[in-house]
Amino acid sequence: MSNTPVIGVLALQGDVREHLIALASADAVARPVRRPEELAEVDGLVIPGGESTTISKLAALFGLMEPLRERIAAGMPVYGTCAGLIMLADKILDPRSGQETFGGIDMIVRRNAFGRQNESFEAGVGVTGIEDGPVEGVFIRAPWVESVGAQVEVLAEHGGHIVAVRQGNALATSFHPELTGDHRIHALFVDMVRAAG
Ligand code: GLN
Repeated sequence: MSNTPVIGVLALQGDVREHLIALASADAVARPVRRPEELAEVDGLVIPGGESTTISKLAALFGLMEPLRERIAAGMPVYGTCAGLIMLADKILDPRSGQETFGGIDMIVRRNAFGRQNESFEAGVGVTGIEDGPVEGVFIRAPWVESVGAQVEVLAEHGGHIVAVRQGNALATSFHPELTGDHRIHALFVDMVRAAG
């Protein structure tokens, strides 16, 4: 890889465009990923917010479930926001029937834990590894992390609940930094991808 990593955004459903913009402004080459051939060409992958049950169904339909699980297991850096965090959980507490995840982070998540759409909110969140003050966390029907395994580093909590974690090359936040102008978390992820290359 050159110093400019190529980072994909899983483009099945969700706020793909916002992540493409945030990654580009954090000095990565960003492109949408829908097919296994496209997945094979990227150095890292963002899994956006949206609806995890839909992303799960479409990933199966597009033949991405197994290739993506394999790449994550092989150490490809991944970053999931909100529904993307759910997709990276090894276990969901309250899955819809048939809902599967890619896994990669040894954690149990609770979907919609912070309430419904009209209970969405913003809050400053201090994140380990992010300097110069808290990030603006946008929580939209956000999950929280109920519990984590020993290999998982908790990077942030809000209201006593875990909202950001990292395990090896997998990073996840309950909130949506791509919806703010603050791209420090994307920059952290781009650094993770560079370091892995
Ligand atoms: N509640 C949604 C889910 O279960 C996530 C919401 C979001 O990504 N903003 O997938």
